[in-house]
Amino acid sequence: MHIILMGPPGAGKGTQAEKLAKEFALPHISTGEMFRNAVKEGTEMGKKAKEYMDKGGLVPDEIVVGIVKERLSKPDCTGGVLLDGFPRTLEQAEALDEVFEELKMKIDAAVSVDVEAEELINRLTGRRVCRNCGATYHMKFNPSKVRNICDHCSGELYQRSDDTIDTVKERLIIYNSQTLPIIEYYKRKGLFAGFDGSRPINEVFTDISAYLQKIQEK
Ligand code: ADP
Ligand code: ADP
Ligand code: ZN
Repeated sequence: MHIILMGPPGAGKGTQAEKLAKEFALPHISTGEMFRNAVKEGTEMGKKAKEYMDKGGLVPDEIVVGIVKERLSKPDCTGGVLLDGFPRTLEQAEALDEVFEELKMKIDAAVSVDVEAEELINRLTGRRVCRNCGATYHMKFNPSKVRNICDHCSGELYQRSDDTIDTVKERLIIYNSQTLPIIEYYKRKGLFAGFDGSRPINEVFTDISAYLQKIQEK
């Protein structure tokens, strides 16, 4: 199964992707996570991406499409993949279609989780991420068992530098102008499925899992 996971920043894409990847044994590919790793490693690409990320903007399409294409060409993606946070523009969606065609793969579903803006701001400003494994927590809504320590790997939790109120507001504006149009794109292809992401993490997970289960059985 090749699945795209979409939604505004803070809707729970990463949280759901972590659980879905485990449930359906799919590699979880998060472009945001790939960029944060590149920033951490101090690569040229990381330096370039950071300029855009810190302002709440999108990294240019040619950079994003390049790293996704490289990742999708790896052997672990032939059986399926869970794309989290890509595509984010119409140009990326079109480029992804070409990459899939080249690799003789097809998209099975474009799943979107949606949450209203006020709640997104609460979620993003309380988000904490593991420095070591990238697992996501929330100070109030999904706290780690031990304060500031990752449940999975005992890594240290930190607040992302782009999870400040001003950057979050900019990211929401960009989502509405640049990313929302791709929902129509996938609706036209009959691949779109929208889910209410405002409910508790496990309820959202149960809904999306049931849907993917049906897709898998087709
Ligand atoms: P969130 O989950 O909060 O939406 P991500 O971790 O997915 O954030 O992405 C963090 C940042 O990385 C984005 O704000 C953007 O600058 C950059 N980024 C991630 N994916 C893409 C993409 N597909 N296109 C352009 N920029 C991206
Ligand atoms: P995205 O990848 O879409 O930006 P995340 O998965 O990182 O979103 O979630 C954003 C924040 O909201 C995190 O702190 C996460 O723990 C929390 N969160 C995710 N899903 C829910 C939910 N259903 N209810 C409450 N908080 C949630
Ligand atoms: Zn961890």
